[in-house]
Amino acid sequence: MKAPPRLYVENLPKEGESLTLPREAAHYVATVMRRRVGDDLRLFDGVNGEWMARISHVERKDVRLVIGPQSRAFAAVPDLILLFAPVKKTRAEFIVEKATELGARALAQVQTARTNARPLRYERMELIAREAAEQTERLDLPQILAHTPLDEVLKTWDEGRPLIFCDEAGDEDDAPWGGASGRALPMASALQKAGCAGQKAAILIGPEGGFTPDERRDLRARDNVLAVSLGPRILRADTAALAALTLWQAHCGDWQNQ
Ligand code: SAM
Repeated sequence: MKAPPRLYVENLPKEGESLTLPREAAHYVATVMRRRVGDDLRLFDGVNGEWMARISHVERKDVRLVIGPQSRAFAAVPDLILLFAPVKKTRAEFIVEKATELGARALAQVQTARTNARPLRYERMELIAREAAEQTERLDLPQILAHTPLDEVLKTWDEGRPLIFCDEAGDEDDAPWGGASGRALPMASALQKAGCAGQKAAILIGPEGGFTPDERRDLRARDNVLAVSLGPRILRADTAALAALTLWQAHCGDWQNQ
């Protein structure tokens, strides 16, 4: 039997207390999901876990519930931040949705020299992340960090957090692919070599136009930056984000001990 639908609700009341759903959630439950009095839902608040809830009243935009027992204790996703340069809207929205499913704890758009797309609005990112978290059975929502210039991000970087720099190897005209410094290690071997299980980390994905040689040089010169290759083909930013998140979860994150 299909599990009851999940909804993110802030400030969940206690077991036995009642809750009136916010209007858009009420509309979703009553009109889209066509739930009735006596039907169950699962509610999570992003910090304390998940609770059962039973519908006690339902009208078009007015749905009331009674909170039942806790169904799942809270569990956080690994401490992984995805930093990505703004890209075309649909691709950026894809990155937000997939990063939520793939367990990124926080997301941030970073402005790089060749960024040529407008950043997604905070509210749009939050809505996509919330819907993806409901669907993917997460118990938390990814934190949406402010859109910030890359050099600002690097200036205040937490030295204890390795930054996995997905380096497409740049485009130095007078050098073979990979530039004078050559291509980075494939990500899987780089992670194995560095050792990463259970550690916090961040992944950086560049814009459609890639990183400039200066940005690559600056990044690769930093001690806590791990430049990695995502293989012998140039991936679109959304594909690269998906691939890097997958590799990290498989080698370092919560795909190891399901
Ligand atoms: N304009 C660049 C070029 O044509 O060489 C491509 C940039 S790519 C569309 C966007 C981002 O995805 C890159 O900045 C990098 O972060 C990541 N990426 C794509 N392919 C990659 C690869 N083979 N290895 C490492 N990172 C890659």
